[in-house]
Amino acid sequence: MLEKLRRFMSGRYGYDQLTRFLFILSIVFWVLAGMFRFTRMTPLYRIYLVFAALNTILYVLAFYRMFSRNIERRTLENERYLQLRSRIYPKWKNFAGLHFDREYLYKKCPHCSTRLRLRRIRGKHKTKCPKCGTKFSVRVFWGDR
Ligand SMILES: [Zn+2]
Repeated sequence: MLEKLRRFMSGRYGYDQLTRFLFILSIVFWVLAGMFRFTRMTPLYRIYLVFAALNTILYVLAFYRMFSRNIERRTLENERYLQLRSRIYPKWKNFAGLHFDREYLYKKCPHCSTRLRLRRIRGKHKTKCPKCGTKFSVRVFWGDR
């Protein structure tokens, strides 16, 4: 079964961030459609139909991209999506590429603004700026850069 799947997927584009986004959006519309399902026989049922249609379209689009053989084009689409996303959510910039550093993150010294490289250990820690000697505490979340 797995071998069959692998053979089917060879030469096809596969999964990427844009496809993941399409799937998430499709689920959002699925939930929204579910909220309007009870409006059957009322004019509001049109809203359900629109959400249900969007859900289906996005779902189909996501699969279409995964099974596409036009790898070059799909790669370009994904790059454009990542660019757009990093502009809208600058925090995601480092998630966009493979630049997310699992071991270290970067914080600015509150006194001299020097960029400090810190070990990625979750929680609150005390640290000392090597440049100006200011001691300060940092709180580290998993998603921090
Ligand atoms: Zn400093």
